Amino acid sequence: RAKDQGRNRFCFYTSDLNAEAQAKLELEAALSRALERDEFRLHYQPKVEALSGRIVGAEALLRWQRGGVGLVSPGQFIPIAERSSMILGIGAWVIDEACRQIRRWMDAGQPVLRVAVNVAARQFAAGDLDQVLGDALIRHGVSAEHIEIELTESMLMERPEITAAMLGKLKALGVKLSLDDFGTGYSSLGYLHSFPIDTLKIDQSFVRGIGVGVQGEPAPVLVDAIIALAHRLGLSVVAEGVETAEQSDYLLRQGCDELQGYRFGRPDTAEALQLRLAAQAQPAMEAQLTP
Ligand code: C2E
Ligand code: MG
Ligand code: MG
Ligand code: MG
Repeated sequence: RAKDQGRNRFCFYTSDLNAEAQAKLELEAALSRALERDEFRLHYQPKVEALSGRIVGAEALLRWQRGGVGLVSPGQFIPIAERSSMILGIGAWVIDEACRQIRRWMDAGQPVLRVAVNVAARQFAAGDLDQVLGDALIRHGVSAEHIEIELTESMLMERPEITAAMLGKLKALGVKLSLDDFGTGYSSLGYLHSFPIDTLKIDQSFVRGIGVGVQGEPAPVLVDAIIALAHRLGLSVVAEGVETAEQSDYLLRQGCDELQGYRFGRPDTAEALQLRLAAQAQPAMEAQLTP
C-alpha cells in the first residue's frame, strides 16, 4: 500500500516537474528567438544627485516584450540566458541599444545622461567586452564618458589577473566602472585598492534596513560603513532601492553621493525619462507657473 502511495506521489511530482520542465523549454526556445524578433527593450531608471535631487544619470534595465505573454522582467530570463552563450548576444544588444539611445538624444539636441549598463558574469569572462563596447561607441559616435558599466564583486573575484587586465582596458576606453549590489557578493576588500573602480552601489537589502526615527530600529551600520569605505578610497557611492523619505534623508545626511529607487522614479521608457529631464531643465518656467 505504502508502495502504491509512493508511486502515486512519484507520478504526481513527475508530471508536475514535466510541466515545469516543459514551460522552461518553451521559455528557452522563445528567448533564443527574442533577439531576431526584436523583442528586447531598455527601460531607464533615474539616478539623482543626493544634494540637489537632480537627475544625473540613469540605469538601463532590460525587459523582454515576449510575444503572447507581455513584459518579462530580467530576473525571469537573465539567469537562463546566462547558462548559455545566449547572454553574449543579449548583452551586446543592450550595449548597442544604450549607445543608440544616447545618439538619439544627441541628435534631438536633448540632454544626454550617463547611462549605466549591467553586465553579466559570462559576458565579462568572455574577454572581449572592451571590443564589444568600443565597437558600439564608434558605431553610434558616442563618447565613452556617457557610459558606465555595472559589475558585481563576484565577477571580479574569479580570475583576478584577467579581471585587472579587462578593467584596465575598459577604463582606457573612458567608461566609468561601478560595483553593483555591493556588500552581497563573495568579495575581498583587498581588490578595491588594485581595481580601477569608480563607484560602489549599496545593495538595496541594506537600504531597506534604514528606518530612521523608528523606535528600536537597529542603526544601519553596513550602510554607514560602505559610505565611509567608498569615500576613504576616493570612490563615489550610490544607494539603490531608495523608496522612502526616511531612507533618502538618512543617506543624504550620511554623505551618500547619488540615490536611485522608486522614490525618485521607476524604470520607464527613454521618452518618459526625457520628459522628466525636460521638466528639470525648466525650473524658472515651473516657478513662473506656480501661483
Ligand atoms: P540591479 O542591476 O541591481 O537593478 C536594480 C533592480 O532593482 C531593478 O530590477 C530595479 O527595477 C529594481 N529597483 C529599483 N529601485 C527599486 C526600489 O526602490 N525598490 C525595489 N524593490 N526595487 C527597485 P530589475 O529591472 O527587475 O532588474 C533586476 C536585475 O536584473 C538587475 O539588478 C540586474 O542584475 C539584472 N539586469 C537588468 N538588466 C540587465 C541587463 O541588461 N544585463 C544583465 N546582465 N543583467 C541585467
Ligand atoms: Mg545594476
Ligand atoms: Mg543593484
Ligand atoms: Mg540588485
